[in-house]
Amino acid sequence: MPDPGGRRPRALRPWPRKRPSRRERYWVKPSGKRLGEVTAADLLLVDLDGRVLAGDREPHGELPYRARRDAEAVIHTHPFHTAALAASTGQFEMVSQDSVLFAGGIGRFDTAQLILTRELGRGVAEALGNLAVAILRNHGLVVAGTSIEEAVVLAVSFERSVATQLAAEQLGGVASLSLDEVEDLAQSIRARGQRRIAGLYRALASRVQ
Ligand SMILES: [Zn+2]
Repeated sequence: MPDPGGRRPRALRPWPRKRPSRRERYWVKPSGKRLGEVTAADLLLVDLDGRVLAGDREPHGELPYRARRDAEAVIHTHPFHTAALAASTGQFEMVSQDSVLFAGGIGRFDTAQLILTRELGRGVAEALGNLAVAILRNHGLVVAGTSIEEAVVLAVSFERSVATQLAAEQLGGVASLSLDEVEDLAQSIRARGQRRIAGLYRALASRVQ
């Protein structure tokens, strides 16, 4: 993002991080089934090395759970506007309250390969670092959240922010938030913390039921 005041934005998160998870096993989507087709019965239980402990299919690629011990949920998806950003040399801009969640920056993983090996999985984890999201070039999005609800809200907010940015560019140019505005908005969002996440998640879930 541009740095309007010459200061570097601090790594804003709208709510405090939880302590590192002690979880050793995760449920993951199997490879070969689309998100809309997956039911709970399809999910695979894997350990931190990606070994399948329950289920008889292959897991969907490598996920950065070992590198991100605060993450209780990791989402990988290919939303249209985010994929367009990932296929461009454009920068992510602070255009709305959705953007503010990512004011600490976004990761970028510079390969278009499918993440099918441990080495590529490590590359994604490195690109993500301690950030909430990373985009994979010519591919899509990876989000790490401290809960399923948080990860979903982050993924939807990121896609919406990029869509707003793209529309603003088409309307004649982006008027980015100033650093002070970003920090004010973040403070207000942070004050509502998990209640805000829960409310947004409920609203999103009601649309798909
Ligand atoms: Zn993908």
